[in-house]
Amino acid sequence: MSLNPKRTITELKELRELTSDVNGAQRVAWTPMWLRARSWFEDKLRGLPVEHHFDSAANRWVTLEGASPRTLLIGSHLDSVPNGGWLDGCLGVLTGLEVLRRFADQYHGRPPVTVRLIDWADEEGARFGRSLLGSSAFAGTHTIEADRGRVDREGVRLEDAVKNCGFDIDRFPEASRERKDAAAYIELHIEQGPVLEALNLPLGAVLGTKGVERWAVTFLGQEAHSGSTPMNARRDALAAAAKLALEIRTIAGRHADAVCTMGSVKTFPGIVTAVVGRCEATLDQRDLDSAVLAQMFREAREASERFAREEKCTVEWSKIWNIQPVPFHPALIDFCEEAVRETVGTSRSLPSGPLHDAAEVARAGVPSVMMFTQSLRGISHNKIEDTKEEHLEQAVVAFDRLAGKTAEWILRSGVNH
Ligand SMILES: [Zn+2]
Repeated sequence: MSLNPKRTITELKELRELTSDVNGAQRVAWTPMWLRARSWFEDKLRGLPVEHHFDSAANRWVTLEGASPRTLLIGSHLDSVPNGGWLDGCLGVLTGLEVLRRFADQYHGRPPVTVRLIDWADEEGARFGRSLLGSSAFAGTHTIEADRGRVDREGVRLEDAVKNCGFDIDRFPEASRERKDAAAYIELHIEQGPVLEALNLPLGAVLGTKGVERWAVTFLGQEAHSGSTPMNARRDALAAAAKLALEIRTIAGRHADAVCTMGSVKTFPGIVTAVVGRCEATLDQRDLDSAVLAQMFREAREASERFAREEKCTVEWSKIWNIQPVPFHPALIDFCEEAVRETVGTSRSLPSGPLHDAAEVARAGVPSVMMFTQSLRGISHNKIEDTKEEHLEQAVVAFDRLAGKTAEWILRSGVNH
């Protein structure tokens, strides 16, 4: 039973058939459909020489024990957003399964290093608004107190939904036990953006996940009558915000992979006959380099103060959320580039704008890397999410190569210690 990429595509379609409706995939974590996907996956493990169990944070661990306890981790997630696509998350899990089968076959059930496949619980945070839940428990970055009070739209509490699936939120931290002997982590995912398609490349190596600075920016001017207030007497909060909305494009434009977005603008009083006295905007800035991120934040803040002065307004900033960039491991990025090159001829590295479980694993100190496969039209979290089957097959082959290279690296570095 050697590597069979076509089987991965067949299994992805099987899962889609089982867990989607006309609006797309419905494998939202802590729901019956998610449990159905997970038990379907468990059936696929039958006959493999593996041990499997759930950790205390509902992550599933499938272990193929090797001659060395030093472990190659391969992971992704079976959960989806509501009305999601057929590839987000499950491509990584089912490709990981195929790679596990290859290791089991090639080494007659006992590879040189231990290989473990993980289906992380609740990567999407679609129901309770808390992404990377299972992997953050593994990484030890999860705080129960911050999540205990979370409720879904129906008012169901996260801790009760967790309990209904047979787990206890108070025991989530015990998932960190699974870190024992973890030597490297690799994850395959669809890009969910348009970069690889624009470059006409099926696959890419991921440099890391971008850090995020997310702020509420409020400009304060003076509400005034739109008929009686001369233009030069206005303190128009929207005018100041509008200048900032354009300036952030220049700020981001100075760095190759940086992005800045003003995603929301609310005006008050928000009527056709009044100059805007108060304008509440949001700013989301992302980059892989924390120095660039800090610089972009400073520049946006200074620009906002300048525009506020020009419009005789004031400006206030309040933090919504931030996270540091998580660069992946240089040696593993090299292996990933090699694996992609050997499979499709050329390789390109790119950062990830979205966060992934790999970021949490890397934060736990496990050398990590991701491989991306092209997303058609760059669309994801939607039923039209798609990737050419030819590219999916190449992804399985390249990811298996990455797994092989990483396993050898684990063996070599084990000897050195
Ligand atoms: Zn995903």
